[in-house]
Amino acid sequence: MTSNKIEIDTLVVGAGQAGIAISEHLTKLDIPHLVLEKNRIAEAWRTGRWDSLVANGPAWHDRFPGMEFTGFDADSFVPKEQIADYFAAYADKFNAPIRTGVEVKHVQRNLGRPGFRIETSEGLIEAKHVVAATGPFQRPVIPAIAPKDERLTQIHSAHYRNPQQLPAGAVLIVGAGSSGVQIADELQRAGKQVYLSVGAHDRPPRSYRNRDFCWWLGVLGLWDATVNQPGKEHVTIAVSGAHGGYTVDFRELAHEGVKLVGLTRAFQNGNVTFAPDLQENIAKGDENYLELLDAADAYITRNGLDLPEEPTARRTLPDPECMAHPILELNLSEAGITSIIWATGYTVDYSWLDVNAFDEKGKPQHQRGVSSEAGIYFLGLPWLSRRGSTFIWGVWHDAKYIADHIATQRNYHQYQNAKHR
Ligand SMILES: Cc1cc2nc3c(=O)[nH]c(=O)nc-3n(C[C@H](O)[C@H](O)[C@H](O)COP(=O)(O)OP(=O)(O)OC[C@H]3O[C@@H](n4cnc5c(N)ncnc54)[C@H](O)[C@@H]3O)c2cc1C
Repeated sequence: MTSNKIEIDTLVVGAGQAGIAISEHLTKLDIPHLVLEKNRIAEAWRTGRWDSLVANGPAWHDRFPGMEFTGFDADSFVPKEQIADYFAAYADKFNAPIRTGVEVKHVQRNLGRPGFRIETSEGLIEAKHVVAATGPFQRPVIPAIAPKDERLTQIHSAHYRNPQQLPAGAVLIVGAGSSGVQIADELQRAGKQVYLSVGAHDRPPRSYRNRDFCWWLGVLGLWDATVNQPGKEHVTIAVSGAHGGYTVDFRELAHEGVKLVGLTRAFQNGNVTFAPDLQENIAKGDENYLELLDAADAYITRNGLDLPEEPTARRTLPDPECMAHPILELNLSEAGITSIIWATGYTVDYSWLDVNAFDEKGKPQHQRGVSSEAGIYFLGLPWLSRRGSTFIWGVWHDAKYIADHIATQRNYHQYQNAKHR
C-alpha cells in the first residue's frame, strides 16, 4: 500500500477463515474489496495455538465447501499448521485481494456523506462497507481471581505451546473446555501432576454408531441452533481430535492420574479454594452426552438407518477418588503446584472500530452480522447466526449472507429512476 488514499467498496479487516470466506463471496459477486491482515493469513492457526493442536472436527467436515484437504484421510484430524496452509491455498485459489502486515487502526463514519474513513498502518482508505472479521477469540481472558504470586508461572491457554515450556512441578489448569481438557491430557501424558478445574461443559461423544459427533450435530440440526439453551450461555464443549480423536471422559482422565476439582473460586495465603460443584458439573456433562446418544438412536430408528449398535458407549467408569471426595481447598506449595494455565476463554477487541455498532456494554449490536451502523458488518462471532458461526464451515455460510447483504445495499445505492437510466 502507498500513502495515497485508496477508495474501495468494501474493506475486510482480518484474513483468518472469516476474512477469506467473505472475500470469496465478494469476489463471486464482483464487489471490489480489499482484505487487510496485520499479521499473516490465518495467523491464529499458526501462532495462536499450542504445538500439537489438531482440528476438533474431521477433515471432511472442518473445511470450506469449495476445497478438500489434500494429503489427509477424510476422517482424520488435520494439524493446525496444515489448516493455516489450507486457508492460504484457498485464498490463492481465487486470488483473494489480501494485503498482509497492514493493521487497521481506526474506522470512523464520514460526516455528511456515505462511507467510512479508515486509518491503517500504511495510509488512509475510504470504504462504503467495512467487515470486521477480526475473530471471536482476540484477547485472552484471565479472571481477576488470578493470584499475584511471583513464584507461580501463569499463562493463558493462548500462550501454552508444549509441556517443556512449564517449570518442574504440578500444574493447575483452570477451565475444562476443549483447550483445557486437551492441555490437561497432554501434560498428564508428559508425566506432570495435573489438577483440572472443571466447570459447566457439554461433552459430546467423539463418535457414536459409526458417525462422528460433527455428523450427528449436523443431521440433528444442532449446528443450526440459533440460540444457546437458557442457562447454557457459559457452557464450553469438551472435545478432542488429538490421538486420532477420542471422547473426553473426565473419569478416565482422573483414573489416569489427573486430579479433578470444581470451579476455581479464590486464591488466598498460598491456598486455592474450589466450589463444591465437581459432581454436579460432571453429572450435567454426562446428561448432555447421553442426550446426544438418545437423539442419535431416535434418528436412526426414525430413518431406518443401518448403523451398528454401540452399547459400550453407555458404560460409565466408576467415580474416581477425586470425585467421591472432592478437594475443596489446596495449599499450592504442598501440592507442588508451580504453574497455572488459564484456559478461561477470550474476549473481542473492537477499540479500532469507532462507530455506532455497540450496545451500552460494548457488545456488537447486530442481526446475523448486519450491525446497527449501516455499512458495518461483524463476522465470525460466537452465535452470529447459529451455533456453527465460529467454526470453519459455519463462518463460510454467514459470510455468504453478509456478502449478499452488501450486494443488495449496493443495488439500492446504484438505483436511478427511469428518467436517469
Ligand atoms: C484452540 C482453538 C481450537 C479451535 N479449533 C477449531 C476446530 O478444530 N475447528 C473449527 O472449525 N474451529 C476451531 N476453532 C474456532 C475457530 O475456527 C478459530 O478460532 C478461527 O481462528 C477463527 O477464525 P476467524 O477468521 O474468525 O478469526 P482469526 O483466525 O482470529 O482471524 C482474525 C484475523 O484478524 C487479524 N486482525 C485482528 N485485528 C486486526 C486489525 N486491527 N487489522 C488487521 N488485521 C487484524 C488477526 O491478525 C487475525 O489473523 C478453534 C479455536 C481455538 C481457540
